[in-house]
Amino acid sequence: MSECPICKRKAVRDGSFCEYHELASDNVHSAFETWNVAIPIKWETYLLQLVDEENLGKFAREIVEYLIQQDDSSKSA
Ligand SMILES: [Zn+2]
Repeated sequence: MSECPICKRKAVRDGSFCEYHELASDNVHSAFETWNVAIPIKWETYLLQLVDEENLGKFAREIVEYLIQQDDSSKSA
């Protein structure tokens, strides 16, 4: 059984995160789809804007920070 890379809770079936971060990840991705229709924006730019958002929820912030890290490591690899 895999665990959430962010909080070490048990990961959900078919997902790489726990139920909280999986939900936050879904929200971040679907919000990006909405944004990208209104204003074409790069994924990286979108994530950085989200991190600056004061009202961003705890789980959402954690997932965004995680995704930014993943993005950085995939670039340098
Ligand atoms: Zn988690």
